[in-house]
Amino acid sequence: MGEIKDIADLTIKLLQMKEAKQFAGEILKIQSLASSVQSQQAEMLERDLRLIEENSELRRELAAATAEDVRIHCGVELRKGKRTSGKWAAFCPKCHMPATEGEYQDAFCSVDCGWRSGVLPSDLESMVRTFKE
Ligand SMILES: [Zn+2]
Repeated sequence: MGEIKDIADLTIKLLQMKEAKQFAGEILKIQSLASSVQSQQAEMLERDLRLIEENSELRRELAAATAEDVRIHCGVELRKGKRTSGKWAAFCPKCHMPATEGEYQDAFCSVDCGWRSGVLPSDLESMVRTFKE
């Protein structure tokens, strides 16, 4: 922005010089273009500020929409929020993907990252009952 003001100032100085009078038309065009660029930059700055505010508001809304209560209990990550329909659900504490029930009534990571727990799914409800909301 400072450079455009410098260009405008130089243009005014040139206009005041006696020998530059023959280029007055071109100098006025330069001055007009510099003024136009300055105006466009001011509009872009205002737009950027609006977008920054809008982005910040969207981040706050996203954080509120995806907020979850997270607890770790007996090596199992338990989450409760909108994506779990407001109920506690077991997740892998290693990669945070949902846990699933194994064929031997154990829990393991749904994307098979290697995490496995000896916690029985039936124990999950008794774990949750110990949580204070
Ligand atoms: Zn995992």
